[in-house]
Amino acid sequence: MRIGVHVRVSAGYPAAIEYAKRVKATAIQIFSSNPRSYRTSPINRPALEKFRELRKEAGIEPCAIHTPYLINLAAENEKVSTGSLALLRFDLEAAEAGGVNYVNTHLGSYGKRDREAGFASACRLLSAALEGITPGVTLVMENSAGAGSLCGGTLEELGRFIKAIDHPQFGVCLDTAHAWAAGYEINSQRGVDDFLYQAAEQIGLDRIPMFHFNDTEVPLGGNRDRHHHIGEGNIGFDGFRALAARPELRDKTAILETPGEEADDARNIETIRAIFKGAGHEI
Ligand SMILES: [Zn+2]
Ligand SMILES: [Zn+2]
Repeated sequence: MRIGVHVRVSAGYPAAIEYAKRVKATAIQIFSSNPRSYRTSPINRPALEKFRELRKEAGIEPCAIHTPYLINLAAENEKVSTGSLALLRFDLEAAEAGGVNYVNTHLGSYGKRDREAGFASACRLLSAALEGITPGVTLVMENSAGAGSLCGGTLEELGRFIKAIDHPQFGVCLDTAHAWAAGYEINSQRGVDDFLYQAAEQIGLDRIPMFHFNDTEVPLGGNRDRHHHIGEGNIGFDGFRALAARPELRDKTAILETPGEEADDARNIETIRAIFKGAGHEI
């Protein structure tokens, strides 16, 4: 298993790689542009190529780009859907340029819109974004905390997207904090086993290359997106031990999006590594 962390690239890609090395990450996730803006500067190909080289030298692979939070693929407003497609396409093309393996995106919200119409729009935009993208890049949609009109809060709905889009470069990233907030009781072996059984049934584990490992203090089914340190929230050490007990996670990538500074990242990575090593994983 590969274990990584979300790293800021505001000080440049070389600094981001140095950071990942210091916290002993073997994978990395970044934002390619300002996560809260629709504006993007042109793709900086030389910088991305250098980033690819540095990752290779440091053995920090795979790499994921997390798309901006503004993306809403199910929106009725045409300006929003056009802007969302442009942002998604930008990150997929940046991923091509930098040899990045995954582009991870939130789907957005149906708002007051009819869910089926929103679902159809999102499928159309996801398919359009993937057109002609080099096979080395996989687009993964992230499960949401499941609040009201948010898309992708259930494994069943994610499975519907997988079937409707039916593209080999399209998959799922499961965020543990979001799953808990959406009502999946993954703080015990029984809960984790049931969660992964449903994920296999609805989506297929081969379509889930990546996880976000985050703990959370939100109550079960609380529908809020708040991340906390590994083992110190409601998923707890028992939840992550239960995940580690599953051999199917052997070849997956786990990215931490836990709060805090460098020392916190190093500690959270060390915690996951200890738990997974203890369960017999190579990590
Ligand atoms: Zn996310
Ligand atoms: Zn996440």
